[in-house]
Amino acid sequence: MTEIIFKNVIDAIKIPLIVFSPVYSDEEISDFEINYINPEFIRSVFNLQAGQKYSDIKAKISKNVDWFDMGVEALNTGKMFAETFLSSNGETWFSLEVKATEDKHVVATLTDITAKVRYTESLKLSLVTDALTALPNRVQFYKDINKIIQYAAEKKEKFGLIFFDVDNLKSLNDSKGQQAGDLILIKAARIFKSFDHNNVSVYRFGGDEFIVVARDIAHADSLYTIGDAIIEAFNAENIDVSGGISVYPDNTTEREDLIKFSDLAMHEAKKAGKHRVMMFTPEMQKNFLRKVMYKNKMPTSFENGDFALFFQPQFDISKNTLRGFEALLRWDEKELGKIPPEEFIPVAEESGFINTLGEWVLRKAFTCQREWEEKFDYDGVMSVNASPVQLMDENFLDVLDAAVAFSKVDPSHVEIEVTEGVLINDTEKAVAVLEKVKERGFRISLDDFGTGYSSLRYLQILPLTTLKIDKSFIQSITEKNGVSENITNAIISMVTKMGLDTIAEGVEKTDQLLVLQELNCKTVQGFLRGKPMSQEQIERYLSGDKTALDHLEE
Ligand code: C2E
Ligand code: MG
Ligand code: MG
Repeated sequence: MTEIIFKNVIDAIKIPLIVFSPVYSDEEISDFEINYINPEFIRSVFNLQAGQKYSDIKAKISKNVDWFDMGVEALNTGKMFAETFLSSNGETWFSLEVKATEDKHVVATLTDITAKVRYTESLKLSLVTDALTALPNRVQFYKDINKIIQYAAEKKEKFGLIFFDVDNLKSLNDSKGQQAGDLILIKAARIFKSFDHNNVSVYRFGGDEFIVVARDIAHADSLYTIGDAIIEAFNAENIDVSGGISVYPDNTTEREDLIKFSDLAMHEAKKAGKHRVMMFTPEMQKNFLRKVMYKNKMPTSFENGDFALFFQPQFDISKNTLRGFEALLRWDEKELGKIPPEEFIPVAEESGFINTLGEWVLRKAFTCQREWEEKFDYDGVMSVNASPVQLMDENFLDVLDAAVAFSKVDPSHVEIEVTEGVLINDTEKAVAVLEKVKERGFRISLDDFGTGYSSLRYLQILPLTTLKIDKSFIQSITEKNGVSENITNAIISMVTKMGLDTIAEGVEKTDQLLVLQELNCKTVQGFLRGKPMSQEQIERYLSGDKTALDHLEE
């Protein structure tokens, strides 16, 4: 190939190409001189001319990469060297390849890799950005929090996390669909974003969880101020959120604990009625660890026979006769001692172990009922509590049928107690299950009426036979202002008209009993007449020992 053809080919190549030759002084390479530049190089890169020295054009072509060193290395080693760099105007990314020829020239080619770099950057960004809300995501959060902790440790600064969770998003997703849920999240992200400035950053941590980080705060209370302002902003948009605060270094200096503690505080905020911000306390941590311990110990402890069923009598005060018993679960753990049901039932519900416990309770209570009927000519009712988790379990009706078959109890002698909590997630399903329970002949009672929502609609839609007025009402029934008395009166007369039994729970005092008598309440249950007692005690009572009842003396 003649030199002229060769030059034409190189000129036609769409890759910027430049040829240098070394300039020596004292047998050392001191500079390079441009021998040849192809038009593509001139067109797309820099305005250079043959004959110019590297030292003249250095500033123009090599901000971030040292062509000189690369050229020297290529000549000395015979190897190819490659680097990427951003053009001086900041617009184009190049990959620079430098090689030496046999006759000691240096050939440099440039490849425009801008598109590839931009693509990689956007990929990287998408890894740390949440697609739905465009907020930085959990990955970015973890990257940042490490730096924030390090910085705060060095500067001895205080900072805080506020862990937010959108209230009721799950039920919104279930009832109105995923899209409606997404819209709420986008709206929520926009509100959070408006707080993102200077020392405050916002992340979507996952699902309906957002984390706000407030750096360099003078006092932990500033976090309340920020949290409350955020709640306020959500208020204006009719969205409910709950938040929990953890403070570095006050609560902990560990990253995972900061997150866990704020999460715990958020759950406390939800429990306290949602739509608020609460600060982590060591008490919360203690409660959490206690629950974890209960959860772990429960199955073995159950196998070891540490659970027992107690029975509390219910009396018909119009005839002064025994109406029946409520079966109440007791846990006496070998090392921890007696643990109240109010503490362990929620844990069992969370872990699902309530299904095992509940099945045992049904069998035990039904068997006692049946045995007492046979042994003592007893004709009362056995009330058994069923947790919402248990009732909504797909095996509940089978478990119930099996317990009936096992004990041979007559379902009409059994009352299943439910709370309105059973209606929270899926009202239709709960009502359908309870209809089936009623079809089998069981009585159904609504427990703790007067707490929670106590909606009159529940009385309409649930297939009830009995209503239990909560002890909080009974305990204030004798108050002078008469509010509880009037409400109790109204409940009793309405419910009686509907043909339901009413049971007043938590009757501890004679004057409470007297008021209830006046209000024509038929049945009472409470420490005054009888506390929850062991099977053995109840059997003594049923066999005729009237002193066997454990009750409050007044
Ligand atoms: P509950 O079903 O409302 O049961 C009545 C609670 O009130 C019992 O508490 C009982 O001991 C207490 N009580 C009765 N009379 C009085 C009184 O005069 N004064 C006061 N202050 N309290 C009185 P307990 O046994 O601690 O049970 C608490 C709750 O735990 C129960 O409330 C029920 O919701 C749940 N629970 C108990 N056993 C079971 C069970 O086997 N299964 C399920 N799912 N829940 C259960
Ligand atoms: Mg009950
Ligand atoms: Mg109750």
